[in-house]
Formats: sequence, C-alpha cells, structure tokens
Amino acid sequence: METDCIFCKIVEGKIPSRKVFEDDEVLAFHDINPLAAVHFMVIPKKHIASLSDAGPEDAAVLGKILTLAARLAREQGSPDGFRTIVNTGKIGRQDVYHLHVHIIGGPNPLPRMIAKE
Ligand code: 5GP
Ligand code: ZN
Repeated sequence: METDCIFCKIVEGKIPSRKVFEDDEVLAFHDINPLAAVHFMVIPKKHIASLSDAGPEDAAVLGKILTLAARLAREQGSPDGFRTIVNTGKIGRQDVYHLHVHIIGGPNPLPRMIAKE
C-alpha cells in the first residue's frame, strides 16, 4: 500500500466508494465523475502505479480484471458490450497513479472514439 495513493485508501476503506465487486485481489467501484450511464473502474488491490510498472508477476491479477469486465458490465447495465480504457503515464493522461481499468458503457452505443482536442 502507498500511503498517499487515493485508490489504496479506497482499498483500505479510508476513502468511501460505491463498490461494484471485491475479492482478495481486486476491487471494482464506480467512478466519482462518470462519463456514461455505466462507468466503474477495476483495480488490483496491490499498488501498481501504472501499466508501465506492471511486471510478469502481475499477469494473473491483470487477467482476472479483464475476464471480470464483461460480467460486471452486464450486471451494471451494459448488456451488449462496453469500452475498456487504461490511461497510462503522461502521454496517456493518467491522473491517478494506481493502475485502473475503466469500464464504460450503458444501454446505448457510446460515441465512436475519444474526441480530438
Ligand atoms: P485516470 O485519468 O487516471 O485514468 O482516471 C482517474 C479516474 O478516477 C477519473 O475518472 C476520476 O473521476 C476518478 N477518481 C478520482 N478520484 C476518485 C475518488 O476519490 N473516488 C472515485 N470513485 N473515483 C475517483
Ligand atoms: Zn495505490
């Protein structure tokens, strides 16, 4: 755990969150600033700063996160697919440096792509 990481604090229950799913290795919770009708994040409970910092030892938990996504998305109201986003580092405009997979969807198709600035 990293003491000044907000997602570690969410894992520890020091910051409240609206939980979607939890087991011993992963936590899923709603994004505080949702971009669509369904928007939650799935994170490893272990502090991994970003995809750039993930190693072979993290393959199992990252696989678990991806294989959970479809079931959780369906349960949350995205019945026919969803979008996954992993913002990584400065170029990826990552804001929170605890690896997280955004799951974004809803009842209707999303806009085709991220808008150009
Ligand atoms: P990033 O840009 O790093 O991929 O996304 C970080 C996400 O975390 C943002 O979508 C932001 O709304 C969300 N977020 C930041 N702080 C909190 C928080 O304290 N609680 C929750 N539930 N989401 C947060
Ligand atoms: Zn963390």
